[in-house]
Amino acid sequence: MHADRRPDAYTGLDRMPIGDQWRHGSSGSVVQDVDPYDDTVLTEFRLADEGDVDLAYREAQRAWPGWAATPAAERAEVFVRALRVLDARREEIVDWLVHEAGAVRERAEFEWRLVRSGMVEVTSYPTRVLGRILPGITPGKENRVYREPLGVVTVISPWNFPFQLSHRSVAPAVALGNTVVLKPAENTPVTGGLLLARIYEEAGLPPGVINVVVGRGGEIGDALATHELARMISFTGSTEVGRHIARQIPLKRRALELGGNGPLVVLEDADLDLAADAAVFGSYYHQGQICMATNRVVADAAVHDELVERMLVRARALRVGDPADPATQIGPVIDDEQRDGVRDVVARSVEQGARLLLSGDPTGPAGRVLPPHLLLAGNDMPSASEEVFGPVATVVRAEGEEDALRIANDTEYGLSSAVYTRDAERGVRFARRLGAGMTHVNDSTLNDEANTAFGGENHSGLGRFGGEWAMEEFTADHWVSVQHTRRRL
Ligand code: NAD
Repeated sequence: MHADRRPDAYTGLDRMPIGDQWRHGSSGSVVQDVDPYDDTVLTEFRLADEGDVDLAYREAQRAWPGWAATPAAERAEVFVRALRVLDARREEIVDWLVHEAGAVRERAEFEWRLVRSGMVEVTSYPTRVLGRILPGITPGKENRVYREPLGVVTVISPWNFPFQLSHRSVAPAVALGNTVVLKPAENTPVTGGLLLARIYEEAGLPPGVINVVVGRGGEIGDALATHELARMISFTGSTEVGRHIARQIPLKRRALELGGNGPLVVLEDADLDLAADAAVFGSYYHQGQICMATNRVVADAAVHDELVERMLVRARALRVGDPADPATQIGPVIDDEQRDGVRDVVARSVEQGARLLLSGDPTGPAGRVLPPHLLLAGNDMPSASEEVFGPVATVVRAEGEEDALRIANDTEYGLSSAVYTRDAERGVRFARRLGAGMTHVNDSTLNDEANTAFGGENHSGLGRFGGEWAMEEFTADHWVSVQHTRRRL
């Protein structure tokens, strides 16, 4: 064990806030929270069992009426104070992201900034959420549609951007008067759950509004997804688990933010330096472990070879190693399973005829630092057709714009996508024919803005985050009518 790698921030984050207490889980099973770079043990957890899950829902349900009735301005004040805590704790949060999530420092800082902009955005939700008044069709009738909080919201989040992806669901839910049971991923319990709960506790959020259970998805996932007190589930994770959850709760509200297979299309008139920058950034940022990662670069044959050259120059220059070193650009993948999965996708693609132009063996104390890989492949080969979630760029050749569109759309996913062209309006026309929830013209597939519609289509999920979309997601329409004149029934 390397004691020097333990972030000293917020020591004691080995229990979970349920109601007004921070408790150990009751399952009897212990999990070590380790640094993926070198296996330093950061903290240990006694995991939650189904009884803890039930208690968390009962506490959330108990806290709900009081929180829903709290005046909007007071709810907003909590977020204003949370911003101060977030600022004061910046270094500690960044340290945790480096050591628990394997984020390189710059990327950890970026995640902190994303949470900050989300918090700023959400501060206005309590006072911004609008109902409507409609004319009555029946004489004397007045129709009002209120947007009401739902009750207890379940949040389940993944390990790849743990702080942001938990916060993205928890913050709007809470701001709009709901209470939450949050289950972070079992390998990022601190950054995905406990830090967030501690920040809002320090900001004066009443106990029971955010409850956290740390446990394995395969053990307590069903109890969370199907709990009778949950009014909605906001799940971020794989398409496979999203599908499993959706099947179990056909009548429950759900927002599902699932996997992706982001194409970045480079048309023949693109600025190739900008396109190569975006392709390398989108393929390798956070070791490619992002739902919006550039899983495929679809390049017009007219510019294919030149683009690949420019990508190779950039990819070779990336510094690989210890994420705690501020110079490092590619750190470890999260665990052995992830590393082996990525290597397997590359090996199967090569077996099927893909050309491997850049590769290398894993390095680092725990052998989880994969160097950047670059392949030329067909769209049906594994590295192009599967969600890789690793530092692998795959370039697919297209014969003109229509072929590029066909290839880009040839996937069951529909999360983020991008197109490069010097003609921005051509880019917008192309973008609108792409089957995706998000398309960026002359920018990376990686994009996140707290006030606009974030989400996927098809097997990438259901629902949207951001701005008015989040306000709709985490509230329910309630039609209340008033009859002002006598009505014969
Ligand atoms: P995962 O689906 O394995 O796990 C996500 C969460 O679900 C974890 O907390 C896990 O414990 C829990 N879980 C697992 N089995 C469960 C079950 N049966 N019932 C309930 N919960 C269960 O995903 P992951 O490997 O942690 O994350 C990577 C995936 O997440 C990728 O596919 C990625 O594209 C996706 N993702 C999507 C978005 C988005 O916004 N669309 C963002 C980030 C990641």
